[in-house]
Amino acid sequence: MSKKQVLGALTAALLLSGCQSVNTTSGGAVGVDRKQYMFSMLSTDEVNQSYAQSYQQTIGEASSKNVLDKTSPNARRLQAIANRLIAQAPVFRPDSAQWNWEVNLIKNDELNANCGPGGKIIFYTGIIDKLQLTDDEIAAVMGHEIAHALREHGREAMSKAYGVNALKQVALMAGAPQGAVALGDNGVNLLMTLPNSRGNENEADLIGLELAARAGYNPNAAITLWNKMSKASEGAPPEFLSTHPASGSRISSLEAAIPKVMPLYQQAKKP
Ligand SMILES: [Zn+2]
Repeated sequence: MSKKQVLGALTAALLLSGCQSVNTTSGGAVGVDRKQYMFSMLSTDEVNQSYAQSYQQTIGEASSKNVLDKTSPNARRLQAIANRLIAQAPVFRPDSAQWNWEVNLIKNDELNANCGPGGKIIFYTGIIDKLQLTDDEIAAVMGHEIAHALREHGREAMSKAYGVNALKQVALMAGAPQGAVALGDNGVNLLMTLPNSRGNENEADLIGLELAARAGYNPNAAITLWNKMSKASEGAPPEFLSTHPASGSRISSLEAAIPKVMPLYQQAKKP
């Protein structure tokens, strides 16, 4: 082994030792149990804190542009639905009871909604108004987005990007030709973004379905929601739909999971 190769091997070993399998959530009735791997030097707290900063900035900008809606009936609806869903989040991960959850409604015609790391929720008025969402359907969207945060899909993606980057450096150090590294990067990219994001979408669908049911929202609304999304995607697809395709497989996977959460909905206190 050359000096370079030894250094490369040492760095690889160090990186692998920093990569840990973690259990972000418990499986729930829907049984989401995929093992996740994250870099320990990218801690949950760090990711949540840095996301919280950019969230505050977004909300501050919306407020200064007068597009932050704190008082309309929809803003109050959103807050009430969020409160019920957030109360169920500890079923999947107990530490989420200590998160600084926030929910904000921004006046924007786009169909979009998100829950970032650490429980920072944003809805655009466009998704509620254009799709004429019922409370149950809002709970379906919000439950899905909350599930992404509970599963730490953001941190997982960052971990992977970090890992790929680091491995690329190791490969260069070990003397791999540039072209080979670039090719490897492409392949990894393709493998990671396509199937994995679909996998993450499915996890968010299932956990979201259970959160909504436990919070007293009819799980069948997930089907009417995605049918509405599918209709909305005819013509130019909105931003949300480009990352959340309203596909037949999504709808059939949700349909298959509804019987698992129906008893939870029937037992739940209704809003
Ligand atoms: Zn999603």
